[in-house]
Amino acid sequence: MGKINRSDIRKIRYAIQWAVFLIVIYSGYKFYLFTQALEQGLMPAVSRPPSVEGFMPIGALMSLKLWIAEGIFDLIHPAALVIFIGAILLAILLKKSFCSWICPVGALSDAVWKIGKRIFGKNFAIIKYIDYPLRSLKYILMAFFLYVIIIKMTPVQIAEFLNTPYWKVSDIKLLKFFTEMSLTTKITLGVLFGLSLLYKNFWCRYLCPYGGLLGLLSSISPVKIRRDKTKCIQCGLCTKNCPSLLPVDKKEFIHSPECTGCLTCVSHCPVRDALDAAIPNRKALRPEIFISAVVVLFFGLILIAKVTGKWHSSVSLDELRDLMPFIHTLAHP
Ligand code: SF4
Ligand code: SF4
Repeated sequence: MGKINRSDIRKIRYAIQWAVFLIVIYSGYKFYLFTQALEQGLMPAVSRPPSVEGFMPIGALMSLKLWIAEGIFDLIHPAALVIFIGAILLAILLKKSFCSWICPVGALSDAVWKIGKRIFGKNFAIIKYIDYPLRSLKYILMAFFLYVIIIKMTPVQIAEFLNTPYWKVSDIKLLKFFTEMSLTTKITLGVLFGLSLLYKNFWCRYLCPYGGLLGLLSSISPVKIRRDKTKCIQCGLCTKNCPSLLPVDKKEFIHSPECTGCLTCVSHCPVRDALDAAIPNRKALRPEIFISAVVVLFFGLILIAKVTGKWHSSVSLDELRDLMPFIHTLAHP
């Protein structure tokens, strides 16, 4: 990627995020056709798209523990683990960049608050005393999953779970969650949509445990947003435009786990070299380097997984067809 204009950073980010979004929608549609054919006892005309497993981070956390503890790489839903590892690596190296550059829910969330801004003329901010405890909700949810999976479940229990019929069809069950929505789900999604219109990134900011985990891991990322106090003219554009509502113009480094490395602040800064992604005491990372690193790291990992046979599920069509009649009755063991 050649040298890019700062104002183009946002366009590139939207292009990447929406490309991922469209791929996910297309994969979801393909998966729907695949499942429909199986349900009707037909031979699917389309293959099962592994990328749908990106929506199974809890199972992926179990797989990760099993892989680390026993060296067993789950091949039932390997893409779930690959995508999870990709998001974690990004967080450890390049802040919570998975959330702002890759995640399709992040793209949707971004679009919804912008629509809200057009409708209401502004986005609202929850007062500080409520904002803090609300933000901790996603960490509480994350702590719960970490406690159950990392502390309570033994590798043997995880291996047993990952061999159950439930795990084999959990992607289909997830699809059904959206295609056969209960009234409660519809109301919940409707409320979330309404809140997302009013408040910037409501789901990501307050509720997403995946983002909570990535945020905590991003605290050790060597890359931070750095403001050069000697060059900054205190225009406040960075703070005004930060989707995570961070006080960028008041800090030298942004250490917050809420920073997604979206570079929106950098793209709005009118002074050359006043604001950058950088490693402390090192030269700034040019935006094109940061963006290339995000893309190469994440999609390179997927490519490696494909080449090494760790992307496609090992569950056969016959196995899935046999399980389809029980899809609604299979419960979490
Ligand atoms: S500080 Fe900058 S990079 Fe971090 S979330 Fe805010 S706008 Fe994005
Ligand atoms: S946008 Fe740039 S110049 Fe303006 S306050 Fe932020 S860092 Fe300083």
